[in-house]
Amino acid sequence: MTRLNETHDAALQCWLASAHAEGTDFPIQNLPFAVFRRRGTTEPWRGGVAIGDQIIDLAACHQAGFLQGLAAQAAEAAAQPKLNGLMAMGPSAWSALRLALSRGLRQGSAHQSDLGACLVPQAEAEYGVPAQIGDYTDFYTSVHHATNIGKQFRPDNPLLPNYKWIPIGYHGRSSSIVVSGTDFHRPKGQLKKPDADAPVLGASQRMDIELELGVFIGAGNALGDSVPIEQAEQHVFGLCLLNDWSARDIQGWEYQPLGPFLAKNFATHISPWVVTLEALAPYRTAFERPSDDPQPLPYLDSTENRLAGAFDIQLEVGLQTQTMRHEGQPAARISATSYRHAYWTVAQMVTHHTVNGYNLQPGDLLGTGTLSGPTLDQAAALIELTLGGKQPIQLPNGEARTFLLDGDAIVLKGWCVKPGAARIGFGECWGTVLPARP
Ligand code: CA
Repeated sequence: MTRLNETHDAALQCWLASAHAEGTDFPIQNLPFAVFRRRGTTEPWRGGVAIGDQIIDLAACHQAGFLQGLAAQAAEAAAQPKLNGLMAMGPSAWSALRLALSRGLRQGSAHQSDLGACLVPQAEAEYGVPAQIGDYTDFYTSVHHATNIGKQFRPDNPLLPNYKWIPIGYHGRSSSIVVSGTDFHRPKGQLKKPDADAPVLGASQRMDIELELGVFIGAGNALGDSVPIEQAEQHVFGLCLLNDWSARDIQGWEYQPLGPFLAKNFATHISPWVVTLEALAPYRTAFERPSDDPQPLPYLDSTENRLAGAFDIQLEVGLQTQTMRHEGQPAARISATSYRHAYWTVAQMVTHHTVNGYNLQPGDLLGTGTLSGPTLDQAAALIELTLGGKQPIQLPNGEARTFLLDGDAIVLKGWCVKPGAARIGFGECWGTVLPARP
């Protein structure tokens, strides 16, 4: 488990003024990773680290040759079009690169001109999916989401009996995971009204969102091995924002008995920036399990996990309709919550995923599941916020929504803030629903 070190010091001063801008997501204490290139060019994709309104080009850093030792090796791995090689190197390499960049970015650093020559403005960049994602697993770690959804189907018994024992998950598709800003078409599928005799093929009329965090796996584990909970976080590279779009009408008809299928895999958006667990260290918090709930089985329990296995990450969903966009209005906030409310931690997800000997690989992605908080205004999907489509959300310009209409854009934001620590953020994750293809 990552402890605080000199890179977290809230008093660090960076020679780049924009790293100190009020409310920036990317101060010197964050240093998240992405893959990028200059927009509109055929430059190679390569890894970068955010600082203020700039990107440190890790390919340029590697070529310039001023990094040493393990940090230099990590920069070389990160100079590739995907970060799988860097992810596979493990926490000591990520940490060495972070420390070298942190020191180089500090006021008075001997490497200011070296690093300054490696900067690319974020305003000129486009981003890619940061890893070749071999496999994608989506969990269901918010007991509040599971309860809200369960109530709509089983008012008297919303939680299934396994929920408080197993971190529930299913295997999703990785080929349709796209980066923020990628538009997508409303999916078509089989739809069946409750009073209809037969389904019809049509465009989903109940397009929903799921506010989640994505967990990028770093070093993997061999097939047959299990990752003990004490070592689970050493296999985690970092966290990103994730929107797991869901076609609720397709889902309702198809999901029994084998679970989610075409209602979920037409698009999943992630933020370009991946925030490392090391950067998140100041925002660790206790994992709390109510005393009258079942306590985790021993393989899902550890002292460290109880003390600091959860993360206090503020999360927010914004909705911008086509009308709002045309009138120059920003997205309106429709939900806000924190990751600290999750019922299962990152470490528990990794450990449970490998308890049967399943082999996680570098660049695999885990979704936390919809991260609804305890109250309805903290619900992280429209199906909860609108009580199954019965109670529309009122928007500031007079429009209302139950599920999404064509042209609606969703923006997810995430950040961490507390006294005595630097505010760090995840940037944004945008996606816009286009009309179904004819
Ligand atoms: Ca989901």
